Amino acid sequence: MFHHPRTLCPTCRTEAVLARITPGHFGFDIRTFECPACKDVHQLVADLVDPMKSPRTTGWLHGQLQPPR
Ligand SMILES: [Zn+2]
Repeated sequence: MFHHPRTLCPTCRTEAVLARITPGHFGFDIRTFECPACKDVHQLVADLVDPMKSPRTTGWLHGQLQPPR
């Protein structure tokens, strides 16, 4: 069975908080997370193309919302 994975901050591994879900191109949506520990903001792209598959993460998008440090 698919179990909903916890989303961990890629920087510090604290569980991130889902801030919002933005509809992306068809078949995708973009989930914006904030880390309560290090205040990192990062986005996860959920692939919703195939209804037979559970939404799965396709990778982190870094540096979209803030300049690189
Ligand atoms: Zn963090």
